[in-house]
Amino acid sequence: MRAHRDLLQSADPEVFAALAGEESRQASGIELIPSENYTYPEVLALLGSVFTNKYSEGYPGRRYYGGQRYTDQVEELARQRACKLFRCEHVNVQPLSGSPMNQAVYLGLLEPGDTILAMDLSHGGHLTHGAPVSHMGRLFNFVRYKTDPADGTIDFDAVRAMARAHKPRLVLCGYTSYPRDLDYAAFKDVADEAGAFTMCDASHYAGLVAGGVMRNPFDAGFDVVTTTSHKSLRGPRGGIILCRKELAQRIDKSVFPGLQGGPHMNAVAGIAVTLGKALEPAFAVYARQVLANARALAAALAARGAPLVTGGTDNHMLVVNTQQGYNLDGKTAEELLDEAGLTTNKQIVPDDPNPPLKPSGIRLGTPAATTRGMMEQEMDRLAGWIDALLRNPRDAALRATVRAEVATMCAGFPVPGLQ
Ligand SMILES: *Cc1c(COP(=O)(O)O)cnc(C)c1O
Repeated sequence: MRAHRDLLQSADPEVFAALAGEESRQASGIELIPSENYTYPEVLALLGSVFTNKYSEGYPGRRYYGGQRYTDQVEELARQRACKLFRCEHVNVQPLSGSPMNQAVYLGLLEPGDTILAMDLSHGGHLTHGAPVSHMGRLFNFVRYKTDPADGTIDFDAVRAMARAHKPRLVLCGYTSYPRDLDYAAFKDVADEAGAFTMCDASHYAGLVAGGVMRNPFDAGFDVVTTTSHKSLRGPRGGIILCRKELAQRIDKSVFPGLQGGPHMNAVAGIAVTLGKALEPAFAVYARQVLANARALAAALAARGAPLVTGGTDNHMLVVNTQQGYNLDGKTAEELLDEAGLTTNKQIVPDDPNPPLKPSGIRLGTPAATTRGMMEQEMDRLAGWIDALLRNPRDAALRATVRAEVATMCAGFPVPGLQ
């Protein structure tokens, strides 16, 4: 790796400078965006390996190109490990990322124009769950349930009423900014009554399902679970579709040749390693700590008066209503924290009166900080910094002081893969 880096430095100093800048940014600040993580050094090695040179259209044993002895091996390893980890019957590890992964499910199981029951986007649904600006939003008829305004959790009477009214072909759950675990049996019940498929997009929190600290949708009989490989799972960028064996052919044909050509075998090899690590006992310890850290961060912020959507968390993330708590929109809050070395992202809150680029909140997550070894006591310091920075938005000296304290703390928690 070192030799490759030196080669880059002399061959292209401009790109090298950007890489070096990003390395120091990642090392000296704290990553609190819940969808981000630091992958394993072994995965970084595979992403930069000769697997990137290989074309492997098709599936193990049935490829359209020769020379597949080793690509078949890594893809088989990834598939076996995924089935074991998530207790499922079939898996496809080829989606290039989360968006094509979800598209492949919709296009493989449904016909254009079919109805999909999904979460309202301001309540936690992802862009790929039928945002009007997305192509899937035009191809399929998305109808939306919301969370209960009283406590921010899912109101199943409302979900059932919508399913009866709209007769969806697919019921979709699993979100991008919902800080609670899900009642999969209740979703399955609603879907069965409508004769619909059940799909969970566990992209954000699959690492916590794998680590045994959140529920597994297959235990409630779900048809399909999708997940990105690069969020709480700590892998390379990619998508994984897990399903019941009856749906295996439809899913595989939908990914290839339906939607994609050659898979990125360097990423598939990295996914194999990632899933192998997720099967080790140390990963369950990691998942427990991600959750413990999120709970500690939520409690420490709430103790300082920060209003949290749903009042807390059951997973790796929390949503702070900065408008309500600090009279600051989420964009301003994101910028203030960024200046102090704390990377977060602005977040719409349920039924947000503010526009998406200037929403009412921010989203915080613990997977990346936990990977660096931070624990509850660091979460308490983080909460103190965040609260002070948001209470004193005009205090540039405070931001400089916190920036220095953050850098000092970070020096004790190295980023995996960086010296
Ligand atoms: C991140 C995410 C995706 C999309 O993943 P990309 O790799 O960014 O395309 C899909 N669904 C959910 C719930 C996500 O959080």
